[in-house]
Amino acid sequence: MTAAHTGGCRCGAVRFEASAEPHHVSYCHCGDCRRASGAPVSAFVGFLTEQVAFTGKALKMFENGPVTRSFCGICGSPIAYVDERLADHIYFMLGAMDMPAFFKPTHHAHVREQLPFLHMPDALPRHLKTSVPRPSDGTQS
Ligand SMILES: [Zn+2]
Ligand SMILES: [Zn+2]
Repeated sequence: MTAAHTGGCRCGAVRFEASAEPHHVSYCHCGDCRRASGAPVSAFVGFLTEQVAFTGKALKMFENGPVTRSFCGICGSPIAYVDERLADHIYFMLGAMDMPAFFKPTHHAHVREQLPFLHMPDALPRHLKTSVPRPSDGTQS
């Protein structure tokens, strides 16, 4: 274990810690993430589930098809999502990390759903749909 990456919700009732470096940092422009976050674009930091530990009892889940999103049951902050097609992985909201500036996204996902007034003039790779191949036809996140 080298650096531990920590994060949590707005009120502090949900805390988590990852014991390894993330394998994935990306923006997601999909409508499902937009609804879940309330923000025009979301960003996620992916770790292996076995590298992550949660503390506190406030974490709630909302299951929508293969994707389960977690949030704080007290303050409502979105925390993470897991996708049953991507077993063993967990993707935290970049904004839930304690040091969000540390996690620079390396690509954009679902740009087909990007809002027309949102301009992000970087040279990062852009994926029309998902940036992480699903075993079956992935439609979310
Ligand atoms: Zn909270
Ligand atoms: Zn998404």
